[in-house]
Amino acid sequence: MTIRKEVEDILAHLGVPATTGNLTVRTPITGEVIAQIATITPEAASKAIAFAHTAFLQWRLIPAPRRGELVRLLGEELRAQSHLLGRLVTIETGKILSEGHGEVQEMIDICTFAAGLSRQLAGLTVPSERAKHRMMETWHPLGVVGIISAFNFPVAVWSWNAALALVCGNAVVWKPSERTPLTALATQAIFERAAEKFAEIYEPVPEGLSTLLIGDAKVGEQLVDSPLIPLVSATGSTTMGRAVAPKLAARFAKAILELGGNNAAIVAPTADLDLTLRAIAFSAMGTAGQRCTTLRRLIVNESVYDKLIPQLKKVYGSVVIGDPGAQGTLVGPLIDERSYTAMQKSLEEARSAGAAVTGGERIPTANDEAFYVRPALVEIGSQTDTVKRETFAPILYVLKYSDFADALALHNDVPQGLSSSIFTMNLREAELFLSATGSDCGIANVNIGTSGAEIGGAFGGEKETGGGRESGSDAWKAYMRRATNTINYGTDLPLAQGVSFDI
Ligand code: NAD
Repeated sequence: MTIRKEVEDILAHLGVPATTGNLTVRTPITGEVIAQIATITPEAASKAIAFAHTAFLQWRLIPAPRRGELVRLLGEELRAQSHLLGRLVTIETGKILSEGHGEVQEMIDICTFAAGLSRQLAGLTVPSERAKHRMMETWHPLGVVGIISAFNFPVAVWSWNAALALVCGNAVVWKPSERTPLTALATQAIFERAAEKFAEIYEPVPEGLSTLLIGDAKVGEQLVDSPLIPLVSATGSTTMGRAVAPKLAARFAKAILELGGNNAAIVAPTADLDLTLRAIAFSAMGTAGQRCTTLRRLIVNESVYDKLIPQLKKVYGSVVIGDPGAQGTLVGPLIDERSYTAMQKSLEEARSAGAAVTGGERIPTANDEAFYVRPALVEIGSQTDTVKRETFAPILYVLKYSDFADALALHNDVPQGLSSSIFTMNLREAELFLSATGSDCGIANVNIGTSGAEIGGAFGGEKETGGGRESGSDAWKAYMRRATNTINYGTDLPLAQGVSFDI
């Protein structure tokens, strides 16, 4: 069976109506066209946003635990379809099967989390300085939440946002990456099944509660510009964030920005090198270097450099690269030619700066339009501008250090601040790395790699990574508006701060 036929079967099974249109969808596995689908017109997108706003006005009246039931049902539908959706993620993004399924597992997990959260959207009660007064805070639904997502986590990012937004009483409008629209269509169909189940058990879900807009950056801009959307959660490159953030700020809308990373790990003299090697291999080569949390810089103590780096080179030389759907493959293809060209440009720049490059070459296949590469290990003397830039491909820059303070300084001396790790058995180094003067990233780990976050924690990063947080912990608060309430149950009217105003 051809991949195209397989895709058609999966979509049909999930209830996605067959369409045709101007958006060409390719699989990076072979580079072949797997679908032609329709994009939304600006007029239809405006209508859909207005419709979502009407859905919000109804949805906010439903008690939060009942809203949680919809997300619980979504989790059940995802579980039932995880095999097909996981395979579709692999076909559309080129990530290996276990990662395709892992992405769907993440969606299921956030639904479980959000269903529980629907009974915990609680505010504080605050002691009042005035007699017979009570102060409290209340969390209210916000409105329509716009979600813009990137190609590399084509569906999990939607679920991190949508599961929370829905239990918080909001409607969602989603603009997925134009490179991965099929997984979005499949996810929307799965949501609609959950909505049908909800209607059977409870009541109809307002039409337009979850809306999908297929299109390019222009459709994303419509979300960003719409006065009916008080919050936009945008995941993608820092270039995209730079375009989106000022527009949102200009209309005082909220933003959750999840942008590029340039993640590093420090390998200290006491590191458990076996564990470190395995952690580096997954973080740097997994998903063919196309995770926002991919390990891109390795800062290695000189005392272990000559032991670790030859071992790492061996792993880089032998890692199985190929069809991401095949058993045993660990590294699939790059998403497209643009990505391959960007990788080669960065490697060329590094070579010109005197770096020693191992790997990085294209691996020929029968398909000219598929781009498989051997992950590259780049030993480089200093942190050049090339190293400071995120190249969204499997390039690991390796730097040597002798003094821990220098390693920390190198670590933080990049514009991005997403994920970070230290490998050490030295408690002082580990604690320093996690302290206020240590890693400046949103994620800081000890003795595990930079990638593969769990949904229970808040996810996001600092500096050019955008400062947003989504998924677990108290990230839900960004999807609600907070009201502070003061209630006077006495007969006097004392003013705060002892102010007197007698009339
Ligand atoms: P991209 O910036 O090219 O596109 C991301 C999304 O933004 C797409 O849906 C695109 O259509 C939309 N978009 C682009 N310009 C826009 C604009 N001006 N207005 C509105 N929407 C616009 O990113 P990509 O190549 O799909 O993904 C890779 C990038 O995403 C990497 O930089 C990676 O680090 C980052 N990423 C970050 C996270 C995170 O959580 N921090 C997660 C995944 C990916």
